Amino acid sequence: MSGSPVAPLTVNGREYRWPERPLVVVCVDGCEPEYINQAIASGSAPFLASLRSRGICLTADCVVPSFTNPNNLSIVTGAPPSVHGICGNYFWHRDAGAEVMMNDPKYLRAGTILAAFAAAGASVAVVTAKDKLRALLGHRMAGICFSSEKAAEATLAGNGIDGVVDLVGMPVPSVYSAELSEFVFAAGVRLLERERPDVMYLSTTDYVQHKAAPGVGAANDFYAMLDRYLARIDALGATLVVTADHGMNAKTDAFGRPNVIYLQDVLDTAFGAGGTRVILPITDPYVVHHGALGSFATVYVTAADAVAGVAARIAALPGIEAVLTREAACARFELPGDRIGDLVVVSERLTVIGTSRDRHDLSALDVPLRSHGGTSEQQVPLIANRPARAGALAPGRRWRNFDAFDLGLNLLQ
Ligand SMILES: [Zn+2]
Repeated sequence: MSGSPVAPLTVNGREYRWPERPLVVVCVDGCEPEYINQAIASGSAPFLASLRSRGICLTADCVVPSFTNPNNLSIVTGAPPSVHGICGNYFWHRDAGAEVMMNDPKYLRAGTILAAFAAAGASVAVVTAKDKLRALLGHRMAGICFSSEKAAEATLAGNGIDGVVDLVGMPVPSVYSAELSEFVFAAGVRLLERERPDVMYLSTTDYVQHKAAPGVGAANDFYAMLDRYLARIDALGATLVVTADHGMNAKTDAFGRPNVIYLQDVLDTAFGAGGTRVILPITDPYVVHHGALGSFATVYVTAADAVAGVAARIAALPGIEAVLTREAACARFELPGDRIGDLVVVSERLTVIGTSRDRHDLSALDVPLRSHGGTSEQQVPLIANRPARAGALAPGRRWRNFDAFDLGLNLLQ
């Protein structure tokens, strides 16, 4: 350990003990529990299978919207979006009259567990697949923080490390590839061997999960790769906690055709253009694999007295699971009220929500649409390579993916 043991740290109201050995928390993007289940059943994941007898496996709820950024930030802050402020990739800034991207750390309202441990003297490393997450995850954190995507550009001054490509021994992969995630694991293993950080956070991309259902060859191949790296992390003596940012489901009919509700078109027809504004917080610069379609939307209603009518119109649509007022959505999903619309809309497992038909390019979808965002993708695995301390797993506790650091630092033997 690089720092001397200190009293537990308090971050966002929760206590975390100093690690007794390196802690590696892995966020496997889009890891529906069934991916691991099927990989184990096919013999592709012998290490994960071995944890059945010596580790623990819980099923946890992620935060809704079940998107990447809100959940990664929840995991590293140990808190829901009502505390850290990141509830999607976009929100509508009413005063500015513009859609604002929330990738900038200035929108982060809470410190991270990673930054707190680094400030207390721990060595901390973060590796993420896509660069869009790097600045948020590494906000105000002293230590190593880089993305696979921009690995070749990492510098000592900017990322706490240089020579990453040589260290990892893999070429920098395409942003749309399984290798982008493999690079994260390969880097994590090399960092554990060379730097032995006290705390490490590894976060992948869901490129494979958007394309391949659990048990399909490409999915099992991905989990076989994951399994090999997790086994090495385990063999290097680290405590390992594996969770996911969200699950993943097919969003199609039985012929593989996407089930899309073009909500802005529906509302424009019913209430006139300009009466409502549908925001899809899944929208980001990398939309090829999901066409910016997910199971969550938020709706801003121009006239305050029209909110109830708009809610009733949306609730009547087939494929809609829930329409909540801002207050109800904040209470149920722990969201920041100033960054969501008047209504929050969640679609059912097989259905996604779009804005207007002409704003979604589905031509790049070369396989049937798989996506996330709703409560149907809320359940994720929470796995550790060590057993829990006696009495540490409170019966009836609602586990969250953002309990990963609590589990890894406080609750394991
Ligand atoms: Zn994700």
